[in-house]
Amino acid sequence: MSVYVKEVYDKLSKKYPWEKEFLQAVKEVLESLEILLEKEPKYQKYAILERIVEPERTIIFRVPWLDDNGKVQVNIGYRVEFNSAIGPYKGGLRLHPTVNLGILKFLGFEQIFKNSLTGLPMGGGKGGSDFDPKGKSDNEVMKFCQAFMNELFRHIGADTDVPAGDIGVGAREIGYLFGQYKKLKNEFTGVLTGKGLNWGGSLVRPEATGFGVVYFAEEMLKIIKKGIEGSRVAISGSGNVAQYAAQKIINLGGKVMTLSDSNGSVLIKNGLDQEKWEFLMDLKNVKRGRIKEMADKFKDVEYYEGQKPWKLGKFEIALPCATQNELDESDAKELVKNGCLCVAEGANMPSTPEAVNVFLANKISYAPGKASNAGGVATSGLEMSQNSIRLSWTREEVDQKLHNIMINIHRTCYETAKEYKTPGNYVNGANIAGFKKVADAMIDQGII
Ligand code: NDP
Repeated sequence: MSVYVKEVYDKLSKKYPWEKEFLQAVKEVLESLEILLEKEPKYQKYAILERIVEPERTIIFRVPWLDDNGKVQVNIGYRVEFNSAIGPYKGGLRLHPTVNLGILKFLGFEQIFKNSLTGLPMGGGKGGSDFDPKGKSDNEVMKFCQAFMNELFRHIGADTDVPAGDIGVGAREIGYLFGQYKKLKNEFTGVLTGKGLNWGGSLVRPEATGFGVVYFAEEMLKIIKKGIEGSRVAISGSGNVAQYAAQKIINLGGKVMTLSDSNGSVLIKNGLDQEKWEFLMDLKNVKRGRIKEMADKFKDVEYYEGQKPWKLGKFEIALPCATQNELDESDAKELVKNGCLCVAEGANMPSTPEAVNVFLANKISYAPGKASNAGGVATSGLEMSQNSIRLSWTREEVDQKLHNIMINIHRTCYETAKEYKTPGNYVNGANIAGFKKVADAMIDQGII
């Protein structure tokens, strides 16, 4: 590490030693930036690193709500408004028992660079709560969402901060959150994205992150003269991102071999087909069941309790689409040993730093989430544009724009990595390109 980078990182890790995921995300970005900082002393002169690692504002609040038994429950709500240099804060809300400030700071920090890479005017933010939607009734989820919005509404707005979904927040939750915002503010604005189609949502937003990951993987594969058709693909997770990554892989002639949830993984011997995909959609989005039930239903599906997908077979492509740090060094080594060529992250920071080192050392085409999963937020940006002009684009129009954005992000990362003499290193490409735009805007806007 250079002296400047080390100084900033050491100070941060002394200040927040318990925020492990946040420090992990910062370290990865700062290490990539060393080659840029050497060339451009202005970033040190204006203390950009010291400023960019601190959120502009953090809101923490109590969320009391009544469960179905009439008992008072209390959760903690957060919104981290990290950086607004290039646009209003933008980033999802996560509802999961593991949520704490460190997790949201890591996600908000990543979001700054991801949003910058999309080319759209969006700053970085993230929020959520330690509320666990699993096993809760619709009524309880609604009560929680309303209570959460009773505080959050003061801090957000179509030109200030525009939250969206993330783990545990899908169409149902966005509906309840939007309804309560509208009631409190008495205005109908595009304050959340991922809205229903009848009330301001964009076509292709549900599909966007998953489709975008596959579009990005396609571009990486083109560079090494390979394709998705006929490839075996390991996908982790079975939520929003995994579902639509799987659909796009099927459409492009690839074979989806695995899916998972927090209990275990399934190996689908003949690959996921349309019938199984529809079963998955009903299982996860309507019945809210477990992935194990796929093995109960289909003969060629085997369930592995407590296991991740990465060691269950030979895969040319891996798409981690569940959660942070779900793919470790030993998983990465096994993937490489079994002939994996391409890893595109659907989740945020799913590969540990050790796993990333294995991919880079073995010249695997590896895309960090902030580049390959940016299709979701990009389409949220398109939803904001449609809300502003009060028009809706067709499915084809939105999908085409999404596709172009992913091609552009790929090109930007690839060219930037080459320019800074680390060809093929999408980590450096994404971090440097994402950072430069935000850092230059911060310099232009003065010390604020
Ligand atoms: P969902 O809630 O729809 O699905 C999450 C999936 O990941 C579920 O299958 C869940 O299993 C699994 N999962 C969650 N936590 C763990 C864990 N600790 N161990 C193993 N599996 C786990 O979320 P999304 O699909 O929206 O999000 C998935 C990832 O993609 C996240 O990292 C998110 O930040 C990222 N992302 C999402 C975007 C979006 O547009 N939705 C945009 C960009 C990134 P279970 O049901 O058992 O909890």
